[in-house]
This record gives sequence, structure tokens and C-alpha cells, in this order.
Amino acid sequence: MVLGGTVDVPDFPKPGIVFKDLMPLFADGAAFRRVVDGIVEHYGPGGFDVVAGVEARGFVVAAAVAYATGAGVVPVRKAGKLPRKALAATYELEYGEATLEVHEDAFIAGQRVLVVDDVLATGGTAGAALDLVERAGGTVIGFTVLMELGFLKGRERLSPRTVHALLTV
Ligand code: IMP
Repeated sequence: MVLGGTVDVPDFPKPGIVFKDLMPLFADGAAFRRVVDGIVEHYGPGGFDVVAGVEARGFVVAAAVAYATGAGVVPVRKAGKLPRKALAATYELEYGEATLEVHEDAFIAGQRVLVVDDVLATGGTAGAALDLVERAGGTVIGFTVLMELGFLKGRERLSPRTVHALLTV
């Protein structure tokens, strides 16, 4: 699958980082449909019950995949956004740390959960999200991203969990 419409943004969000902006891809209806269809084809339409999207761009993809398959959607949010009792996972960033949260009752025990984000970089975000889903009672059946930044070795960090990436750069 060929993904078009991604833009490299130098020095964002800080000097020395080249940020991959996937917004133009999301804005292209045909390309966005190929992304969603690619994920659904990989896991099969009956392969999961819920799609968990990581804030914020993961929400966009998660909702579309869920709608296409009849699955539900659960948000994995940044700290302090959820209204009810939540589980939290803190992970390290290059400078400092970040926290993700999910409602503690977000899943019915054993529900099969596909976790979705836009980009896999170092794997810290994904590791925290996958941990949270399992702590909240979900059964992770997969983790998928649109783009994997292979040189940052996030896939190795997440091992033995498997990663599905539509595109690896
Ligand atoms: P990680 O925790 O280092 O793997 O970073 C992945 C998280 O940061 C994901 O939630 C992405 O949305 C975001 N991210 C990191 N790098 C990029 C990028 O180049 N483009 C878009 N999002 C990115």
C-alpha cells in the first residue's frame, strides 16, 4: 500500500526533530479510506470488539475503523481529561514524561481490543496504551499505526507484542 500526502516538518515540536505530519493524508478521502480498509483487511472485520484510539490522531482512525466494522470506540486520553475514575500509565519522553489514562470500566472483561495510533516512534506511548487497555480488562489483539519510524526502534521496545504498520520509514 502506498500512502501519499504526508509532510516532513523540520524542527517541530522542538529543534532537531523532523515531525511527520499525517493531516494531509487524513484530509484526502481516497487515501484515508485506503488506510481504514488496510487496517480492517489486516485484522479481519470480526477480529476485534473495540478499537482503542490514542489521543488525538488515533481517535480519528479508531472511529473510522470501528464504524467500518461495527466495533465500539474507547479513547486513551492524556492525563486529566476523563470525567470518571481512570487508570493511569506514565512513560518517559525524550525530555520529561507523559501520562495516558483510560476509564477503569472502559472494557467488559475479555473484550478483544485493537489499539490504534497514527505514528510509532520510540514506542513509549504505545507501551503505556497497551498496558492500560490490559489493566482495564481488555484483551489486546493488536496494535496498529499508519506510520512506523523504524530507526527509533519502537517495535523492539514493544516486543514480544506485535506491531502492524501500514508504512515504515
Ligand atoms: P513515541 O511514544 O515516541 O512512540 O511517540 C508516538 C506518539 O507521539 C504518537 O502518539 C504520535 O502521535 C506522536 N508522534 C511522535 N512522532 C510523531 C511524528 O513524527 N508525527 C506524528 N506524530 C508523532
